Amino acid sequence: MIYKTISKPEFKKFVNLLIKENPTFGPVEVAKNTKGKPIYQFEEVHSYDEIEIDYTMSYSSIKNFFLPFKETLSKFKYEGNDWKQEIKYRVHPRVLIGPRASDISGLVKLDKIFVTGHFPSAYYIARRKNTFIIGMDNKALPDAFCLSPEDHDIRTGFNMFCSDIGDKYYISINSSKAYNYLKKVKTANPTKTDDKKFIERKKLIQNSFKTKVDISGLENFLDIEFKSPIWTKWGEKCLSCGTCAAVCPTCYCYGVEETIEVNLLESRKEQRLHSCNLVDFAKVAGGHNFRPTSVDRLKYRYYHQYRGFAENDDETLCVGCNRCGRACLADINPKDVINDLRMENL
Ligand code: SF4
Ligand code: SF4
Repeated sequence: MIYKTISKPEFKKFVNLLIKENPTFGPVEVAKNTKGKPIYQFEEVHSYDEIEIDYTMSYSSIKNFFLPFKETLSKFKYEGNDWKQEIKYRVHPRVLIGPRASDISGLVKLDKIFVTGHFPSAYYIARRKNTFIIGMDNKALPDAFCLSPEDHDIRTGFNMFCSDIGDKYYISINSSKAYNYLKKVKTANPTKTDDKKFIERKKLIQNSFKTKVDISGLENFLDIEFKSPIWTKWGEKCLSCGTCAAVCPTCYCYGVEETIEVNLLESRKEQRLHSCNLVDFAKVAGGHNFRPTSVDRLKYRYYHQYRGFAENDDETLCVGCNRCGRACLADINPKDVINDLRMENL
């Protein structure tokens, strides 16, 4: 990692240069919630001034820049007595400005599935390689919970990461692309004072996490509590809407559908993101549903997030952003469910 500092006016110049040359996406206010608080989402921006650089957290994660809700994997056409297949997974280089550490940590977990996992996805890899990521640090929202230091103090998964140290940003540079691009503007080597401010900023962020969730030994709790009444307690409240998985930075379950055009000469294969909370998620040919109730389905979402992934990668899939808890109309959130599991509220 190489460290530099950049003044805020110079950073603005840098971002405007990037915007001029690439499609660029950053957090913008799209609406207000019922309490009058802004709702932010990542949208295409055409100048630095459109970006809410001091935003809190986007409602949805940045996952969908890499795993769209719906994408065509391939198209088929019957021509000259044979089927021709067309596959497109190239993407135009683009820039994402402002993802939070936990969002990038979510991407690093998805990389373990779609880049280095057993079944890599060329579509995901193409998007990941062609997206220049400028992460920005922030203090935690009151309901966000930190599960591991890596989720708020990341060292990988981005091109450059900016820590706000007052009148400048302390930049952690993680790619030659970022290093070379930064040559177009004025940067400086960090001074001793900058280093001190950087360390203080990291401590401030770490101490800003007010919600604690104890996940020590959670895999064992989940093994033991498979038939626990807490799954009924929370599962019966669940509306099976799938919103939690849609906003989550790491829920990635998907289905693949094939559609044949009415002329029987063309077809396409599409991938759609799914949610294990949706009623038909585990429905198979013949109509049998392996998880017929909302209780079964909610339970499996928690098992995937906190046990299945942990068994293979020694870490939870969840990064503790609490987007799922914030978006859930039934007021189901990981902190309450996990605390119940630890028998603290039964
Ligand atoms: S847990 Fe909440 S957000 Fe998720 S499917 Fe159930 S009701 Fe919807
Ligand atoms: S807190 Fe919820 S939305 Fe955030 S990573 Fe964990 S499961 Fe996903």
